[in-house]
Formats: sequence, C-alpha cells, structure tokens
Amino acid sequence: MSREDYEIVIGLEVHAELSTKTKIFCSCPTEFGGKPNTHTCPVCMAMPGALPVLNEKVVEYAVKAGLATNCEIEKNSKNDRKNYFYPDLPKSYQISQFDMPLCKNGYIEIEDENGEKKKIGITRIHIEEDAGKLNHNEFGGGSLVDLNRAGVPLIETVSEPDIRSSKEAENYLRKLKSIYEYIEVSDCKMQEGSFRADVNVSVRKKGASEFGTRTEMKNMSSFRSIVRAIEYEADRQIDVIEDGGKIEQETLRWDDVSGRTFSMRDKEDAQDYRYFPDPDLVAIKLSEEYIENIKNNLPELPESRKVRYMSELGLSEKDSNLLTASKHLSNMFEEASKICGNHKLVANWLLSDISRILNEKEIEADQIPFTAEQLAKMITLIEKGTISSAIAKKVVEELFENPKDPEEIIKEKGWIQISDEGAIKEVVQKIIEANPQSVADFKAGKDKAVGFLVGQAMKETKGKANPQMLNKMFIEELKK
Ligand code: ADP
Ligand code: ZN
Ligand code: MG
Repeated sequence: MSREDYEIVIGLEVHAELSTKTKIFCSCPTEFGGKPNTHTCPVCMAMPGALPVLNEKVVEYAVKAGLATNCEIEKNSKNDRKNYFYPDLPKSYQISQFDMPLCKNGYIEIEDENGEKKKIGITRIHIEEDAGKLNHNEFGGGSLVDLNRAGVPLIETVSEPDIRSSKEAENYLRKLKSIYEYIEVSDCKMQEGSFRADVNVSVRKKGASEFGTRTEMKNMSSFRSIVRAIEYEADRQIDVIEDGGKIEQETLRWDDVSGRTFSMRDKEDAQDYRYFPDPDLVAIKLSEEYIENIKNNLPELPESRKVRYMSELGLSEKDSNLLTASKHLSNMFEEASKICGNHKLVANWLLSDISRILNEKEIEADQIPFTAEQLAKMITLIEKGTISSAIAKKVVEELFENPKDPEEIIKEKGWIQISDEGAIKEVVQKIIEANPQSVADFKAGKDKAVGFLVGQAMKETKGKANPQMLNKMFIEELKK
C-alpha cells in the first residue's frame, strides 16, 4: 500500500495567553519579558500559605472565546488541580479545569483542501495557568527558573480529531488565531509563545472506522513547522505500519533543523494527574444575564467583516477573505484606506507586494514594521504621480527594512518620478536614436515596439520616468 491509501487524522490543543493586565490568581502583571522573577509575588511563586483569587476577567475572556467559537457556556464550573512535577511549576500542580470546562461543544468553520467550507468541532475551552520558564545552559550548563510567566492566564482550546491534512490544520489555526485577535482576548503573538499548539497526529487506512494511535508534538509555535511536522510524522507512521510495526502513543519533539521528530516520553496515558477540585478556590457560577451581556458586546468577527468588505466596498470574496484573515492586516487596510481614501489601491498593495514580502521573510502580518499612515502616504504619492509603481515597489521594500515617512525615503534615495516634459523628451530622443530597429518595426506597423522602447527608457532612468508620459511621447515622436 502507498501513502495515498492512508488518511491523516489530526486534533489540536491550542494554548492562548490571555491579554488580561494581571495574572489569573494574583495581581502580578502579565507583560511579556521583564527581568527574571520581577513579575512575581508569593502566590505565583508558590509560597506556603499563599492563597489564589480568581481574576474575573479571565472568566469573561474565556466566555467570549467560547461564544465566538459557537460553544455552549457552562454555568457551573470549577478549577481543578492537575498534579505533576516540573521545575518550572513550583506548586507541583497546575490549576486547570478537568471535568467542568467553561465552554464545550463548539465549532469553527474553515476551508478544506479544495476551498470548500468545513466545520471543525471544538471539544472544550478551559482556563488554566501558564508555567514558568527554564533558561538552560546560561551558567555552567545548569538551568535557572524564571517565574514571570507562572500564573499568566491561558485558555486551552481542544479540537475534535476532525482535521484531515496539514493544510487544514494550518487553516484551522489561522482561523482560530484570527478569531481570538478580533475579540481581543489574546495578542496571539506566536513568536512570544502566546499562541501555541500541541499537535496530535495519527493515520489510518482510508475507509477504516477506528482511529489509529496518535502521537503528540507539544508547544509548537510556527505555522511552517507545524505543517512540516505533520507531513513528516504522518509519513513516519505510515512507514512503521507498512513495515508491519505498531505506533506507540508517545510525546514527540519536532526538530526544525533536522526536520525530524524525536521521542520525549512514552505512554502518556500512563501519566496520572490525580485531578481534584482546588480547595482554595470557590466554584464558578455564571448567570444567564452575564453570558447574554458578553454575547451582545462581542466585537465584529472576521466572517462579518469579510461580508462587509464585499457588500460595502465591492471587494471580491477572495480578497476580502485574505484581508480579514488577520486582524492586523485588516486594521491596517481600514486605517490606511481612511487616510488616503483609495481602498482599492491599499488592498492591491497589501495583497500583492506586501504579502509577497511577508511570505519571503516568513513573518506574519502582525510583524509588519511600518504603520498604516506610512502605507497611506505611499499610496498618495503614487496617486499624485510623484512616484511610479516601479518606484513604489522599491519604497515598500525599504519600508520593511527601514520604516519611515515614504516622502523622506524617496527624497533621500532620489527616487522622485521624472514628470518634467523636457526631461522626458530628452530620454525619448536618446532611446529612439539608440534603437533604430524598433523604430523601423513601429513604422512597419508593429505597435509592440513602443512597449520595448518604454522599457528601455525606464531602464535608462532607473525606473524614475513617468511611464504614461513616456508612452505618449514615444508615439508622438515616432509618428512624426
Ligand atoms: P491529552 O491532554 O491527553 O492530550 P486531550 O483529550 O486533552 O488529551 O487531547 C487530545 C487531543 O488529541 C484532541 O485534540 C483530540 O482531538 C486529539 N486526538 C484524539 N485522538 C486522536 C487520534 N486518534 N488521532 C489524532 N488526534 C487525536
Ligand atoms: Zn503573582
Ligand atoms: Mg494533549
């Protein structure tokens, strides 16, 4: 049998750090970074006798997330202790939720491999605390514990094993990330670990009714690595099965450099967390009004923004989809359009050159270094004819390297478009003299020759001449 005879099955557990100002059980700041152990207090450092108090905002944010992903909200919920030892977890237990999560039975809609709509089930969303961080090998090969992150609130969103390819997994993660960005529960900065996924993968023969045994790759925080890891892991599992072997349920580590997975610990099921309700915390009880109130105040979601772009701005479904996929991109689109008044051009630049550069640099829209004002300014310069679109392409490249006012960029670089008739005429005459063959072609009825000459003139002026003026003047001169 070959790879085509197998089906990949994926389920994702996503941890998103909530953007509340303070931690989940104390009033320490959640801010990323900071000197080690400065965002700490007796509660998040697990001093004996220190008592946790649940931050109400965490519940509100989790309910928001649940409503935005079509979940049922559980009115009676609680916090449980998940017991395990790890040096970044000084209490030796994590406060999480076991059998009564705040949200359950939801779904989000994604596009499958063929661009068809598909629902991916969400089993549950629960609240829990993040652990600290170990800094390895800094001093004599030992590890130092930084508890700034300990107690930062998380929501864990567990999907059903409904995902069938690496592409679907990526689409699911992008959609979930964009929803959480839109409702402002998390900044979802993957590079800072505030949106990360545990990736569960299994394979089975097509048509089989039972799932295969899964392996799990923890804490992955780049779309690219996740896609690569799924492809690799599915291939590995198929090879094992084809060779007559069996898949062990185990936790794997993906290594981006070698492009392989490595075994970390096996038989995860054997681990017993001895969950029990945290006796230091009271049960969580939500009223109908409380939930209704959050529902009525949910911000605009990507889906409705997309529909608005299509109906109000006349953008295509594809473009509207691309623009709203990231809240950052979509906000930039709206702000820049408002400033320069030309949403068509803003959309074009965001979806062509800017998206291309994001791809090349392998960065996400929230890492665009320039502002909406700067983008709007560039569009205005194009509209006024101060720069050609050839120059604008260079300005965009420069905005990524060294973001500042585009007007300053073009002054500094001497990129102002030549629109002076005298100067254009000079270039036109020079190019005509240098290309007698093209002139003859034109006279013989080959209109295409003009395009070639304009191209030569653009080359001569390093892209600075106004192409419309060149075109017009070449035709005038050649017809003389
Ligand atoms: P654990 O905490 O032990 O990893 P969870 O139930 O929280 O268990 O998460 C299990 C995840 O694995 C879910 O996202 C689920 O969809 C996924 N999953 C379960 N069985 C399979 C399978 N056979 N293949 C792929 N994914 C699976
Ligand atoms: Zn604290
Ligand atoms: Mg898991």
